Amino acid sequence: LSDGTTMTGAEYLTRFHGSDLEVALFHPQAGPVNLYNTKRFANKKQRDLARATLTTCPVPDCRHAADNCEVHHIEPWARGGPTNMNNLSVLCRYHNRTNDDDPDRHNRGRIQVRDGTPTWVSPRGTPVANSTHQYGAMHLLFGT
Ligand SMILES: [Zn+2]
Repeated sequence: LSDGTTMTGAEYLTRFHGSDLEVALFHPQAGPVNLYNTKRFANKKQRDLARATLTTCPVPDCRHAADNCEVHHIEPWARGGPTNMNNLSVLCRYHNRTNDDDPDRHNRGRIQVRDGTPTWVSPRGTPVANSTHQYGAMHLLFGT
């Protein structure tokens, strides 16, 4: 920015251009550079697909059904994380609040995508699946 600060394109749009905007950037020689969708909240198709991917909150032993979960940004929205399927997961209200959104914080574990499936990763970095109800689409289709 002209004041010397730096931020991603998504952070700029979020800060200065409201919450419902889709912006495409084109470079005169390189062509299309990026498409920013500044909608913070997942739409119905994204929520449905997130629930099809996982039928329960992905934190081990959590029994909250996906229908009662929130849609979580794996890379936080506040840090420029997009509202795209590869960055979304169902997560129950409690675990959405206790997730270590800051990658430098290692207190309660965090959700990361492993083999295409949002997976809880312990504070020490060990991925652990929630085996309570393994009927999500990724598990049924590919055994992940
Ligand atoms: Zn949970």
